[in-house]
Amino acid sequence: MNKCTHICSIYSVKTGALLVTKTNLYHPSTKHVSLHAEERAVHKLTKMIKSRLISDKCISKGVHILSYRVSTKTHKLGNGKPCQNCMRIMMKQSHIIKYIQWSDNSGNILDEVRLSDIDINQHQMSSGYKWMEKNKGRL
Ligand SMILES: [Zn+2]
Repeated sequence: MNKCTHICSIYSVKTGALLVTKTNLYHPSTKHVSLHAEERAVHKLTKMIKSRLISDKCISKGVHILSYRVSTKTHKLGNGKPCQNCMRIMMKQSHIIKYIQWSDNSGNILDEVRLSDIDINQHQMSSGYKWMEKNKGRL
């Protein structure tokens, strides 16, 4: 079932330290992805900052997000471009999140992009999110 894993890692721009890594979570009953790696990682990051598990010094220059998808069969990289919803979640934290980078369909990690340069319309609505919208009130 779970042929691909979407992984999101967050690094300190200043020190390069890995702060958070999260994968996507499948909803057990619907098999639709209910929580994306990016939103889980950003959530964990903000929680860790609030509870002072990450020092101010470490995030003084902001953080860098790397989002990628790996096939559990072939171990090849796939399209890890964040969906529109995840992009919105990141943009709400744009005072901390400064750069983003993701893998494409050909297995390349693309150049980093400044979050402030992101055009949200270039990001797709995810199929799971569309499904949730359609089934609102029925869940
Ligand atoms: Zn997403």
